[in-house]
Amino acid sequence: MSSQVAVLESVQRFLNRQHGLFIDGQWVAASSEQRLAIFDPASGQQISSTADASAGDVDLAVMSAWRAFDDGRWSAMLPAMRERILLRFADLVEQHGEELAQLETLEQGKSITISRAFEVGCTLNWMRYTAGLTTKITGQTLDVSIPMPEGARYQAWTRKQPVGVVAGIVPWNFPLMIGIWKVMPALAAGCSIVIKPSETTPLTLLRVAELACEAGVPPGVFNVVTGSGAVCGAALTTHPRVAKVSFTGSTATGKQIARVAADRLTRVTLELGGKNPAIVLKDADLQQVVAGLMTGSFLNQGQVCAASSRIYIEAPIFEKLTEAFAGAVQSLSVGPGMDPGAMINPLVSHSHQQKVASYLEDARQQHAEIVQGNRVPDGNGFYIAPTLVINPAASLKLAREEVFGPVVNLIRVADGEEALRLANDSEYGLTASVWTAGLNNAMSYSQRLQAGTVWVNSHTLIDANLPFGGMKQSGTGRDFGPDWLDAYTETKSVCIRY
Ligand code: NAD
Repeated sequence: MSSQVAVLESVQRFLNRQHGLFIDGQWVAASSEQRLAIFDPASGQQISSTADASAGDVDLAVMSAWRAFDDGRWSAMLPAMRERILLRFADLVEQHGEELAQLETLEQGKSITISRAFEVGCTLNWMRYTAGLTTKITGQTLDVSIPMPEGARYQAWTRKQPVGVVAGIVPWNFPLMIGIWKVMPALAAGCSIVIKPSETTPLTLLRVAELACEAGVPPGVFNVVTGSGAVCGAALTTHPRVAKVSFTGSTATGKQIARVAADRLTRVTLELGGKNPAIVLKDADLQQVVAGLMTGSFLNQGQVCAASSRIYIEAPIFEKLTEAFAGAVQSLSVGPGMDPGAMINPLVSHSHQQKVASYLEDARQQHAEIVQGNRVPDGNGFYIAPTLVINPAASLKLAREEVFGPVVNLIRVADGEEALRLANDSEYGLTASVWTAGLNNAMSYSQRLQAGTVWVNSHTLIDANLPFGGMKQSGTGRDFGPDWLDAYTETKSVCIRY
């Protein structure tokens, strides 16, 4: 008997559809008949295809979003009404949760358990949190000291207004959740959005656009274009009617987007890559360390921007901890995402599997000490076994670059100060963690680690109310938290003489 979850009929029907672009509240055929194939990473088989949008198709989508913004059908709607529609949208996502979770596992490869808990479960938390921000947009009243003309009195205040059309560009690692991290703040602020999922994993956002419409989001407010980064993504981020780009993806693409945005002074938020350190001090609870950093490192096969990929361990506990990690890695079962019992699943695509394999090949050629977990299933799936690299030489590519796979470096350090120096010696600054029982260590390391988020005795735990974003080459701007909508609004100052 198969241990895999049975594919829902609604999921199979969705996979079989001839997907178009979602523009102005309806499905529109792309101008070219060229299709982009979607593969199941567990089998390597094609399971669906999507349209390959041209610059002309993107223009249609942006102009639809612009008209929807300009005529106020959403931006001028009562905030309480917008909030109610967004909460209804969340309810529909919840009702279709199993369908969305299966679609995500089938196109992305991750465990169905993670799709249910994160791509759907956590997404719902973010949706409801952000819907609530719709009715909490505030300005300030300000006393001003303008001395002229003599005797004049003034009253001044600020108000937040939606910026206009937002372009959302989404990566492939958490396609639904990260897509929603762009859709929800844009819509809560009163903006319209054109979103472009990754060409590898576009299906869940296409389905979610239909649900938004069903919830009452007016036509044109939420559009989805599918296609390549070079054509569709570039046309979207350079469109003159786009007021803001919200991008999550690699540092290299983020820099390209920042360059073109500079020409037009488009607002940008960039959530980019990471090479995230964890520092384990000798007073840490080692059981807690192994459980926490196994999840922090191998969740979604390490295809997590925040994943711990460099673990610095104080010398007195290095051997013991390395042994414990090796045991834990070797106990992980490897298999398809649709098998809830498989702890490690395939990577997202053949090309990404090859990229991760090339980092390991480089390490092998330089005689690095490598500990690998279970054999991967036979067949054409895009698997890489979970891997530890012990004390990698600084010359190895995987010592400094973001591998974005199930590969973790364990590094012996003399003490915490050496760990801190090495942890901060990186071009990235997204997340970090320190593991210790000591309050002084927790306070001191959390302040000195150069990262947008620092955890103590945990890693990769995020929350809708806790700002998230990168320092250094990991990006600019912050998502989440009570001030999230600031990035989607303009502050307008009003000053009245009376
Ligand atoms: P990527 O940069 O290759 O692609 C991201 C998106 O950008 C895709 O939709 C792609 O089609 C599009 N794109 C590519 N070229 C473009 C261009 N010239 N103009 C506009 N759009 C373009 O990244 P990826 O491989 O999909 O995702 C993995 C990367 O994302 C990793 O580096 C990871 O660290 C990062 N990431 C960061 C965060 C974060 O919050 N900081 C979260 C998830 C992933």
